[in-house]
Amino acid sequence: MVTISERFDSLGFDGTPARLGIMGGTFDPIHIGHLACAEQVWQQLGLDGVLFVPTGRPPFKAHRNVSPGEDRLAMCALAIADNQHFDVSSIEIDRPGPTYTIDTLRALRAYYPPWVEFSFITGADALENILRWHEREELASLASFVGVTRPGTVLEPSFFEELRASGFSVELIEVTALALSSSYLRDRVAQDKTIRYLTRTAVIKYIIEQGLYHD
Ligand code: ATP
Ligand code: MG
Repeated sequence: MVTISERFDSLGFDGTPARLGIMGGTFDPIHIGHLACAEQVWQQLGLDGVLFVPTGRPPFKAHRNVSPGEDRLAMCALAIADNQHFDVSSIEIDRPGPTYTIDTLRALRAYYPPWVEFSFITGADALENILRWHEREELASLASFVGVTRPGTVLEPSFFEELRASGFSVELIEVTALALSSSYLRDRVAQDKTIRYLTRTAVIKYIIEQGLYHD
């Protein structure tokens, strides 16, 4: 039975220290911005893998109708299928109630041996909110945080000082600037504009087949 994800369920169980990147997000839909940043962080930090964890019900996105978890999960799975050091987990989607990163990190911590470390990857815009996340003290103790640059958000050095003063281990990694978002893709689909090359072909096929983002 798969607990966390097919590719990473045995990570660290042979006693070898490992570092797992975790990329949380709504992924509605997943796009090249998410994929390229995970790939670049994976290489730069020498991670053993990156686990994409689509959120169940995102607490910050209650204002719009998020696509069903099963669709967002399916699109992530299609997008990462050909990358052996990426995988996707349904742990947040399977959990009832609002989604908090702290619960996910607790679940991962409970599953993996202590020598498997977690690096939570987040775009600069999401990192900006981190001090407002649920149970931030414990959050800071469960993972190190990796901010990635994202067009539209500039993070001042003083912000990183503040995060570190609050107990977070955090670093910023510069990734290729890709000025696109899931909202941008959704808007384009709604307007019958092409999203070819903005995400993986299999994801586009899924969006068309399921009729997503056309109200
Ligand atoms: P939406 O427009 O629906 O908010 P999004 O593109 O921001 O979609 P999310 O699912 O909200 O995607 O983001 C998941 C994570 O990926 C967040 O940490 C976000 O900051 C990061 N991210 C998304 N797009 C990019 C990008 N182009 N460059 C860097 N980081 C990104
Ligand atoms: Mg976003």
